[in-house]
Amino acid sequence: MAKSVLSDARFHSEEAAFEYVEAQLWPNGPVCPHCATAGEKIGRLKGKTTRHGLYKCYACRKPFTVRIGTIFEDSHLPLRLWLQAIHLLCASKKGISTRQLQRMLGCGMKTAWHLGHRIRHAMDPGKASPLGGAGKTVEADETELTKSRKSKRPAGHRRGDNMRVMSLVERGGAIRSMTLDHSAMGVIYKHVHKDSRLVTDKAAHYKFPPVASHESVDHSKFEWARDDVHTNTLEGFFSIFKRGLIGVYQHMDQKHLDRYLAEFDFRQNTRAKLGIDDAQREAIAVQGMKGKRLTYRASGSAEA
Ligand SMILES: [Zn+2]
Repeated sequence: MAKSVLSDARFHSEEAAFEYVEAQLWPNGPVCPHCATAGEKIGRLKGKTTRHGLYKCYACRKPFTVRIGTIFEDSHLPLRLWLQAIHLLCASKKGISTRQLQRMLGCGMKTAWHLGHRIRHAMDPGKASPLGGAGKTVEADETELTKSRKSKRPAGHRRGDNMRVMSLVERGGAIRSMTLDHSAMGVIYKHVHKDSRLVTDKAAHYKFPPVASHESVDHSKFEWARDDVHTNTLEGFFSIFKRGLIGVYQHMDQKHLDRYLAEFDFRQNTRAKLGIDDAQREAIAVQGMKGKRLTYRASGSAEA
């Protein structure tokens, strides 16, 4: 029988957890987070009372660990618990609920909630540069998240109150999803490179998009695909996201929707079909923990 991944030392020993995270964030050895010094001027502090993974920089004379400047910095939780939570989120195609995390990690509800959302935040690669470009095709599509029929709607709920999501995918490249607050065209302006070829359904939603060319299929005329003009990649993605919403998360607060989308985008962009296994996906997620600390605060945390 193959060895269970859950028996790996990084999930059980704090020392192994530090070694694992250091290998991901410092592939060429420790780097001082205060002055960027690396190499011989970094010393390892060892001793019975010394904290795990403690180093000293002999250039700026400050001590540090790999947690500084990452999402782990403000946390008092053992690193091995973080790695367990990251692994669970990376390996679960439809996500993992706060309650499930709480039960599996044996931690409190609030801790599980914060862990989940910080990891989702770290999975977001950022949305600064547009998708597509010359010779590239970008699919765009929208979807509405309807509440399950079992859940009670608040009085005065209208169809327009449903949360809306818009996703873009560069064919052969990355997917990018976001809450749709305003018009789909606003998203195209901001997130699609002007030299791209754009493929959508519902042509009426996308009048004169600022791209090199635009083709669409008309679902209202029972046309779903014409050669490579289709939005099937996104239809498939929406279907996984909705199964996660109904089966796992049950409720997503609008103000946290973008973080859930980042989680599903992350798994889609590192999916098994691209030759990435659960362990590699986890390593990529850990690499993303760097530099995410301040922006998480700025985005505002609150109880769900
Ligand atoms: Zn230093």
